Amino acid sequence: MRTVYLDNNATTMVAPEVVEAMMPYFGQLYGNPSSAHLFGGQVHRLMEAAREKVAAFFGAQPNDILFTSCGTESDNTAVRAALQSQPEKRHIVTTRVEHPAILSLCQHLEKKEGCSVTYLAVDSQGRLDLDQLKESLTDQTAIVSIMWANNETGVVFPIQEIAELVKSRGITFHTDGVQAVGKIPMDLSRTGVDMVSLSGHKLHAPKGIGVLYIRKGTKFAPFIRGGHQERGRRAGTENVPYIIGLGKAIELAEAKLEEENTRVKALRDRLEKGLLASIPRSYVNGVEAERLPNTLSISFEYIEGEAILLKMSALGIAASSGSACTSGSLEPSHVLRSMGVPFTCAHGTVRFSLSVYNTQEDVDYVLEHLPMIVASLREISPYWEEGMAAAG
Ligand code: PLP
Repeated sequence: MRTVYLDNNATTMVAPEVVEAMMPYFGQLYGNPSSAHLFGGQVHRLMEAAREKVAAFFGAQPNDILFTSCGTESDNTAVRAALQSQPEKRHIVTTRVEHPAILSLCQHLEKKEGCSVTYLAVDSQGRLDLDQLKESLTDQTAIVSIMWANNETGVVFPIQEIAELVKSRGITFHTDGVQAVGKIPMDLSRTGVDMVSLSGHKLHAPKGIGVLYIRKGTKFAPFIRGGHQERGRRAGTENVPYIIGLGKAIELAEAKLEEENTRVKALRDRLEKGLLASIPRSYVNGVEAERLPNTLSISFEYIEGEAILLKMSALGIAASSGSACTSGSLEPSHVLRSMGVPFTCAHGTVRFSLSVYNTQEDVDYVLEHLPMIVASLREISPYWEEGMAAAG
């Protein structure tokens, strides 16, 4: 069966070049980078070369790069570091559309650790109101954490502008850049961002490696304590093979950034236009906002996204829905709810996310099959009949 993978915001294929770069570190290059002998020294040098590569990609300094285990750890480290290093401040500002790596942490800090949290709203296109952000900042604010790009809709926030606003008040600014990396330019030398989270498996490196960029001078306290690795900011022997893999993936991302914004974007646009033209009552979420070049969140009114996914999966097509299954009931995603997407649309939402490995044949395969899938589901949907009757 033909397979078409269009779920790259969930995870990506590990690039063959990345696998190749990592292999020696499972064999002869097994030294501990902290060891003083030749086995350690050699690995240490190669690991530091990978750190330099990652730093250069972001216009950062190697010492600004902290390797972690994933995007979630980077997010948790950033928020907790800001709170621990400023114990007198207990207020956090974030948005309603963050990934659970930030949202559930904030909810926990609110309920169990005496913090107060402001969750900024978004408009119908998923955009933030910067005046609202300005008003939310107080002398008690320890950190503002606002994602660079949304994982469900691909909506990009104006990070430079937000950083200027937050830094003008002397407040620590963290951004979750997990979905932005490799898809849009991220020159940190030109933004006032203090901390940025990244995750390897979203850019063709393996699962289990992340980065927290920490600008020199940022107030910081370690989340994991122990040995002196990572300059005392994260204890634990470094995951050397994966760090090497991430270095290679960053090198590839740099070389392919242009392609991401031309060829991949053209494929996404072809899919978007094709679906809108062939499927009545379909709507693109965040269509008026700036969006990542690879992401399409599209709602098909009056049917279930989960049913669409199952039917697509049977034809070898992988995408994801805008719903999360919670306690047996299908709840539309918090992102779509925050944007005020009507329930009749939110339930029928599918997210397609492309990568440089996708082809026009992949997109055309979806365009060939999805209109029929939607039509067949609408035929058996009582909501479709009711909705059409109400619309006259
Ligand atoms: N932040 C965003 C925006 C994400 O999309 C994800 C993963 O989907 C994460 C954080 C978590 O990253 P990880 O899976 O590496 O923990």
